[in-house]
Amino acid sequence: MSDMATPNADLAGLVRTITDFPKPGILFRDVSTLLVSGPGFRTAIERICATVDAGRVDLIAGIEARGFIVGAALAFALGKGLIMLRKAGKLPGAAVGHDYALEYGTDRIEMHVDAAPGGARVLLADDLIATGGTALAGAHLLRSQGAQVTQARFLIDLPDLGGAARLKGAGVEAVSLIAFPGH
Ligand code: AMP
Repeated sequence: MSDMATPNADLAGLVRTITDFPKPGILFRDVSTLLVSGPGFRTAIERICATVDAGRVDLIAGIEARGFIVGAALAFALGKGLIMLRKAGKLPGAAVGHDYALEYGTDRIEMHVDAAPGGARVLLADDLIATGGTALAGAHLLRSQGAQVTQARFLIDLPDLGGAARLKGAGVEAVSLIAFPGH
């Protein structure tokens, strides 16, 4: 992303870290402090846009909830439509879902069955990639509806949790602006 030793250190400095949220041992990377900065938010979206070949993308898919913020801003900036990948039971129209495993239990995301025309090239967006389980579920769901998913973008990567590598193994290139070591 950059020749600097720490890529996008200016943006990394706007992310607040909250210890032991939502449970003991988790370092929560809180992007609300980046989003509340007008220049920070705009710069982050501009830098992500610079990594996207807009001619090879038809639609952006944002993952509920913070992925809606990143995804909507990217969609607006790139002049693309937005697909909402929502938690179970939220979509009003006919929907299809994908269940995926969490550390404890399972979760489910859904999309409208008519959201992605067959063959559409969809770029996934979220605020952060950790294990990659959420983004991978999004890719599976979109692909089940005939979409092509080869690109994903995030503000933050937690590389030690292996999500970007997992996505790569599934044929999805994951690019993030900021990397935080550890959990
Ligand atoms: P994963 O499915 O493990 O890649 O987790 C990614 C999802 O969980 C994203 O939607 C993130 O918003 C959220 N998430 C996971 N870990 C963290 C963390 N340490 N700080 C903030 N959000 C996180």
